[in-house]
Amino acid sequence: MKLLLTGVLLGSASWSSAAPKALLVGIDGAQYERIQALNTPNFDRLYINRAYTGGIAGESSQQSTYSGPGWSTIVTGNWVHKHQVTSNSSGLANPAYPSIFKRLKQANSNLKVASIVNWAPINTQFFTNDVALINKVQSGLSDTNVVTEAISFMNSGGDFTFVHLDGPDHAGHSYGFGSSYDASIMTADQQLGQLLNAVEQLKQTTGDDWLVLVTTDHGREATGFNHGNQTFGEKTIFIASNKVLNQEFSQHVTNLANTSFNNIYGYAAQTSITPTLLRHMGVEPQLSWQLDGLPLIGNLGVRKVMAGTNTDIAWYSDSTGTVDIYRNGTYVDSALATSPGWNDPATVQGVPDYSLVLNNTPVSYRGALSNVDITAILNWSTSRAYFFRSDNRYVRYNKTTDQSDSGYPADITNSNWPGLGNYKNLITASFNAENGKSYFFLSDGNYIQYDNATDKADAGYPKPTNNTNWSGLGNYAQDIRATLRWTGNKVYFFFANGTYSRYDLVNNSVDSGYPKPVNNSNWPGLGNYATEITEAVKWSNTRAYFFLSNQRYVRYSITNDSTDAGYPAAVNNTTWPGLLNP
Ligand SMILES: [Zn+2]
Repeated sequence: MKLLLTGVLLGSASWSSAAPKALLVGIDGAQYERIQALNTPNFDRLYINRAYTGGIAGESSQQSTYSGPGWSTIVTGNWVHKHQVTSNSSGLANPAYPSIFKRLKQANSNLKVASIVNWAPINTQFFTNDVALINKVQSGLSDTNVVTEAISFMNSGGDFTFVHLDGPDHAGHSYGFGSSYDASIMTADQQLGQLLNAVEQLKQTTGDDWLVLVTTDHGREATGFNHGNQTFGEKTIFIASNKVLNQEFSQHVTNLANTSFNNIYGYAAQTSITPTLLRHMGVEPQLSWQLDGLPLIGNLGVRKVMAGTNTDIAWYSDSTGTVDIYRNGTYVDSALATSPGWNDPATVQGVPDYSLVLNNTPVSYRGALSNVDITAILNWSTSRAYFFRSDNRYVRYNKTTDQSDSGYPADITNSNWPGLGNYKNLITASFNAENGKSYFFLSDGNYIQYDNATDKADAGYPKPTNNTNWSGLGNYAQDIRATLRWTGNKVYFFFANGTYSRYDLVNNSVDSGYPKPVNNSNWPGLGNYATEITEAVKWSNTRAYFFLSNQRYVRYSITNDSTDAGYPAAVNNTTWPGLLNP
């Protein structure tokens, strides 16, 4: 008894001086089921459970089960609708949602932080600016060298170390599931063992408080060769820990609003890794950070947040406490944690970002889009387009990478669109005339001529859209809903009543015989949507897009002069990444 007491006292004395340290081991493309099936003695030293990636299919968080989106979710605690890394060829992640590297350095610049990776784009493509702030950055190393460098960094006093190993993903792409893949898992297990041994040694010599998490970016489809889609195998990841974690890690919840993929959403999400590491490091996740994930240590916040069947938000909680609900950072309501969800009584324009706070633990959820349409589009160049939205904001779109540039949407002001700012709520259509001028049409029957080279509205505008300025359009001045710069000298104007006119930019007049109805013989495939067109754009010499109300669009072949098969489709983060972001 006396010995035990002494031990407790000594123990608590050394714990109080223990510094938090963390190691995050990422093993690319490692299938949970193979780790469980094989002899992996070093994984056996850890607690492990299934988890999921890919966001929630069909919601704004849905993301491809590729490495770029997966690792970006792991190091930010957010899904693709926030980090905006949609593919392996994406550029910089959205700086509005920093990585754990930057979060740690912002909290305490003295922390020693490393990112040591085999797959270079994590450091060199997505989080280049964030890792510029940290102490050790190595990219493109062999797995063997990753382990050596990580141990060296930890031994030199490193506080947070991220390592990325690539063996299993490489084996999977080369050989599929089978003996080579299994061998790569066992090799990764040996490398994990070296890292765990180094941590054990440091714990004994320093008394520091180490959290080790191990995870993967994505699972694989049935053959093991591929990944990227939304299937149970590809969405399956794992989280392993040297510490006992909370119920969000250990409890599989099965009575959720969304039971897809064998109740995969009842497991922990990939977004929980960064909040867990931050909390362990003493950097408590803040509401303003809008993290989608919940820490797997300490107090439980609201769990399993998703779209409800009859409510805007559904969640799971065993707590008897009260949930404080914020929309876009502003408190709006409270609800019992035991209630199944919450309905937003307000009509929200755009995409609402909700934060739910329970037990001083925030978790965020980006709701469904509502009430934002594309009102005008300028095809600015072969690589850039501008989209104007009904919430008076605009998005710069990179046509080469096929995604919105980071930092958008932005407000339409007289500084970014000189001469347009006062009319932002009236813009109903626009086109680039391809002669150095662009035109904006306003719902009050006026228009603005914009000079592309000087990037500002010409003096003297707005002017009336009458038969002097736009011969043949005067009677429709307040009814223009969409414009489509076509090939040659032609521009199509679409009107609210489902008709359209063709305008000749050289004759400065509507061609004879117009307006005509938008039907399936004049515009094959568009006839059913004649009064729902909100804007159109010529994307290239062979392709145009029509945007429809309620966040839909149609791809139109200029070559075939017909709608492509499979349209209308939804405007979302897969089809138009970032275009409708809040
Ligand atoms: Zn891969």
